[in-house]
Amino acid sequence: MKKLFTLSLMALVASQAFAAEFPIKDKPVTIIVPFAAGGPTDRVARDLQQALGKSFPGTSFVIDNAAGGPGGLIGATKAARATPDGHTLMVHHIAMGVFPSFVKNMPFKIDSDFEYLGMINEVPMTLIGRANLPAKNFAELKTWMAANKGKINLGNAGSGSASHLCGMMFQAAVNIDMTTIPYKGTAPAMNDLLGGQIDLMCDQTTNTSAQIEAGKVKAYGLTTTKRLTTPALKNMPTLQEDGLKGFEVNIWHGLYAPKGTPADVVTKINAALKTALKDADFVKKQEALGAVIITDKRVESAEHKKFVAAENARWTPIIKAAGTFTD
Ligand code: ASP
Repeated sequence: MKKLFTLSLMALVASQAFAAEFPIKDKPVTIIVPFAAGGPTDRVARDLQQALGKSFPGTSFVIDNAAGGPGGLIGATKAARATPDGHTLMVHHIAMGVFPSFVKNMPFKIDSDFEYLGMINEVPMTLIGRANLPAKNFAELKTWMAANKGKINLGNAGSGSASHLCGMMFQAAVNIDMTTIPYKGTAPAMNDLLGGQIDLMCDQTTNTSAQIEAGKVKAYGLTTTKRLTTPALKNMPTLQEDGLKGFEVNIWHGLYAPKGTPADVVTKINAALKTALKDADFVKKQEALGAVIITDKRVESAEHKKFVAAENARWTPIIKAAGTFTD
């Protein structure tokens, strides 16, 4: 009897030794955002930062804008190489699903160097232009673009970014080549669009809704198949309605941790993410900007991972056909 008791006590001690402490007292949780502050990925991360924090009272959540590289490669590499204790997370977007098709020498593997913590949202994009563009709608924009071939500047967040994918598809759809101007995120690109230094940009509604509503940029269409119901965007036609058949770009964001983050920590953060995705304040803020919160099985780690692999398969031929590769 005594031996049995000792053995079960030893088993209990052993299981506790393997249950990682999370959160570690007084240690902040850093959320890496691989784009500049103030942009759409940053917006999602900052709203999530507040909602996630509610599940871990006393722990501070901080944002690290590790911007740069194709598709936010610098921040994603930093996240892949961070200490896997749950104290470094990353919010990233569609680039996670397209990295292998546009970066030849990947410093990490999307499938084996990350723990997938669940998807966050899906966000349509909008085609927008500087406020003083003469075109008031998409039909007029087409005329303006035809008259200005060779002179049009299109901003984006660097190759492999969401704005790059959208811009690349847009140029192919209208059959007009534009000069792409890369930034470290679409927050700085938006500044230049507001200043009139660039003409056009495609960006998530989480970054464009307020500017469209305030009349600070011209809006020419949504990149999704259906119109939106949010006040800022409810009268905006889709680019498909305007004749760009099959034109669809829907951006998604997910939460990640470096590979090797203990399974029980992954479970805890995944549970906190699911709670955050139902947090009334988070949902309200995100929906007001046109984002659709993930409520299906893609909030689960395994489904999130499957979805990213499927996105990779979907985008690879598109990117290869466009011949856009980087080292
Ligand atoms: N929206 C950006 C992109 O085009 C990234 C960002 O700044 O969030 O990928």
